[in-house]
Amino acid sequence: MTLRKNPCCVKVRGSHILEVSCARCDRLIARYQKVGGSSLVKMYRERITEGSIDFSQSHGALFCPDCGARIATRYITKPDRKEAYRLTPSAFHKRKVCG
Ligand SMILES: [Zn+2]
Repeated sequence: MTLRKNPCCVKVRGSHILEVSCARCDRLIARYQKVGGSSLVKMYRERITEGSIDFSQSHGALFCPDCGARIATRYITKPDRKEAYRLTPSAFHKRKVCG
């Protein structure tokens, strides 16, 4: 499985890495720098370190490259006006990466 680095990624201090995968086929979608212990409802594009989707491009929605399930939908956050993907609650699994 090849992962593409996100060239827009910004290192976030105090974050930990979550792996977000497809709930239907378990394909890894993205590695994400999560801050705090709250549940994962969105991913800022600039905090995605790498994934199986090309995050150097802007996508209207994120689809699993294997089974085509819709994982997330793009929107602009308020009030910080950043590009983010709102995750579909039943469409993904997350796993904390140690280290
Ligand atoms: Zn899938």
